[in-house]
Formats: sequence, C-alpha cells, structure tokens
Amino acid sequence: MYLFEHQHERDALIRAQVRTDRLHLLFRQTFFSVLGSFLAALMLSWLCWNRVGHEVILVWLGLLCASTSLRIVLLVTYFRSPVETRTPQRWERRYWLTLALSAAIWGGGALALMHLNDLVTQSLVLLFTVGMSVSAVSCYSAYRSMTIVSISLVLLPCSFWLLFQPAPTQIGMAAATLVFVSFVISATRKLSEAMETAFRLTREMEYAHSIANHAAQTDELTGLKNRRAFFRQAEQTYEHCKRNRVPLSVLMLDIDHFKRINDSYGHQAGDKVLRQIGGVICESIRDVDLCGRLGGEEFAILLTDTSIDDAEATAEQLRQAIAKLACEHVEGITASIGVASMNGADRDVNMLLNDADKALFRAKAQGRNQTAVA
Ligand code: GH3
Ligand code: MG
Ligand code: MG
Repeated sequence: MYLFEHQHERDALIRAQVRTDRLHLLFRQTFFSVLGSFLAALMLSWLCWNRVGHEVILVWLGLLCASTSLRIVLLVTYFRSPVETRTPQRWERRYWLTLALSAAIWGGGALALMHLNDLVTQSLVLLFTVGMSVSAVSCYSAYRSMTIVSISLVLLPCSFWLLFQPAPTQIGMAAATLVFVSFVISATRKLSEAMETAFRLTREMEYAHSIANHAAQTDELTGLKNRRAFFRQAEQTYEHCKRNRVPLSVLMLDIDHFKRINDSYGHQAGDKVLRQIGGVICESIRDVDLCGRLGGEEFAILLTDTSIDDAEATAEQLRQAIAKLACEHVEGITASIGVASMNGADRDVNMLLNDADKALFRAKAQGRNQTAVA
C-alpha cells in the first residue's frame, strides 16, 4: 500500500505505472503481429512466385525468418522473465530494435519486388503493405511512435518509388496509398491518447480505492487499525490459531483516568497522549501481532503464538513503558491491562476479548497502573 503526501509523487508513480501497462499490452499483442507479418510475407511470395525471380523472394524470406526468430526469442525471454523485471527501461529499446529491423526488412523486400516492374506484382505488394499498416495500428496502438515508424518503414519506400514512375496508374496507386497512410497516422493519435487515458484512469481509480480502503481501516488519530478492521482481522487470526492449535493471547489496555488528563490539560493534549501510546504499542509488538484502537482510550493487542505467561510479560513491559512516558506537561500517564489466552471455553474472538476485558476491570478495581490475568 502506497500513500503519498504530495500530488507530484503520486502523479510520477501513476505515470510510471501507465508506461509499464503500455509495455505489457505491447508484448501481449506482439505475438500475433510477429506471426502475422511472416505469414503475410509467405503469402505474398506464393502469389508472386511465378512472376518474379526466385532469388529475390528467397533472400527476402531468409532475412525475414531471421528477424522473426529474433522477435520470438525476445517475446519468450520477456514472458519468462520475472514480472518485476518487465520494465520499460529494460525492454522498450530491445523491442524498438527488433521492430525496426523486421519492418525495414519487410519494406526493403517490398521495394525489391516493386523494382521488377510488373504491375500485378506491384499492386499485390501495395495491397499487402497497406494490410501490414492496418495491423500495425492494432498491434502497436499503445505506442504511437512504433506504429508510425513501422508503417513508414514498410509502406513508404515502395509508395515513393511508385510515385516517381512514369505510368499514371502507378502514380495514382502511390498517391491513394499515401493519402490512406496520412489518415491512418492521424487516427493513431486519437487511439493512443484514448489508450493512455484508459490506463491512467484505471491506475488513478486503483489508487483512490487503496486510499479509501486504508482510511476505512485506520484510526485517524493513532494510525493503528480501527475497531472494525481489528475485529475483522482478529476473527481470522483466532480461527487460524484454533485450527492449527497455536496459542493465542490478547491484551486489553485502557488509559487510567484519561478523563482527568483531558480535563486538566485539554483535549488536544489528550489526543497527543493517545498518539504517543499508539506509538509505544506499535514498538512493543512483533510484525505478526495485531493491534487496534477499539475506541476512546481503549486498545487491544492480539499476540499470536504466545502463551499466557509470555503475554503477561509483554503486558508488563508495555505498562512500564507507558508509565515512563513524558508528554509535554502531562504527568503521571498510566494504563491498566487485562490479559487472556485462548482456551477450550471460548468459542470466538469476542469471548476471548471479553475475558481480557474482565481482567482489565479487575486491574482497574485493584488500583490501576497494573496488569491482571484472566
Ligand atoms: P478509567 O481509569 O476508569 O479508565 O477512567 P477514564 O477517565 O480513563 O475513563 P472514562 O471512560 O471515564 O473516560 C474516558 C475519556 O476518554 C472520556 C472521553 O472524553 C475521552 N476520550 C475518548 N476519545 C477521545 C479522543 O479521541 N481524544 C481525547 N482527547 N479524549 C477522548
Ligand atoms: Mg480509561
Ligand atoms: Mg475506557
């Protein structure tokens, strides 16, 4: 769970997440584009096989085979790498290199086929390069620059070559293709912006949700779990310990004469005392333990895998640490603690807390600033 005090830190995190999301989408969509571009080359070669020299086609397919293999290796390495290492810093450049290489080979091959001066072949090549451009839009949509570069490398060499041929048909075909490309490129702007917005909104929503979740579970004053969150987690811990026969103890802590502290030093000083005691509790328990402010000046602490004797010792240390607290002018801060352990008689966590509550009541009755065991 990450919470930031400053807006710009949050924005920076979301920007980084959006960039990573784009990369993930790019890789997820790549498999089909890699396979599709090789299959398109095979199909085009088959269609042109009897019209042009075989050497051109074979060299082209050989190079494409190599670049396709490289891209597949990249894909496999990416998907086999641990998720936390799939970062834009590590993968974007490699992706760019393999993409540019294969697009350049595709575009070079298309240009070579154009040179053979057969109108049917030229039309077929143009048709396939236009198809490749459309598929580039769908595959690299998360990265507008990649879409543009791959379209340019595949389509522009042969279109420009055609544009400067003498026959009006060739010039017309080239001009129509270039107009089409300009429409496609302008459409990619809107598409990539929409995608970016979708990624950003998703991440912002996630962030807002995590803040709301955190706030719903946290006691604002002390930063400890609030009553609801404490009980929810305590129930789970209780069930887990009962099932696995792990000892479980609980401490109920109540500040002594807190009303007097409020009356003598003011409500704000009282709040400070509550915050300090919350801090002392946090420092005194282990990560596996659970603590919360149940309300007012009452705290509960659940100690996993802890016998009643160890729980009593922990309670004593805590009580002494509180008695030593110095909070500005407030003097004589003490607390009473009731200790109870899970036993055959209690059926749920509420009954266990009830036992600790009764012990706490006894500690109060016996003069406060002490620990009593159920
Ligand atoms: P005892 O030793 O018997 O526990 O006496 P006490 O005065 O601590 O107990 P009592 O229940 O009479 O008073 C609790 C006081 O805690 C009353 C209430 O004003 C105060 N209190 C409850 N919540 C807050 C809070 O969030 N901030 C402050 N400053 N005071 C609070
Ligand atoms: Mg009290
Ligand atoms: Mg109380």
